[in-house]
Amino acid sequence: MTCPICRKPTDPTWRPFCSRRCADVDLGRWLTGSYVLPDPPAENDDPAAEDRPRPAS
Ligand SMILES: [Zn+2]
Repeated sequence: MTCPICRKPTDPTWRPFCSRRCADVDLGRWLTGSYVLPDPPAENDDPAAEDRPRPAS
């Protein structure tokens, strides 16, 4: 097994990484990915919404 960050042999202490440094790198990527989210699609821009029949009240 090799470190997914730098491809060095994995250290059992830090697996699947080779060192704490690479573990921190992966953690940083994970945190960044969770905090920086792409803008959600605006529902108001959905053209299909205009075609939905509305119940007459
Ligand atoms: Zn590594």
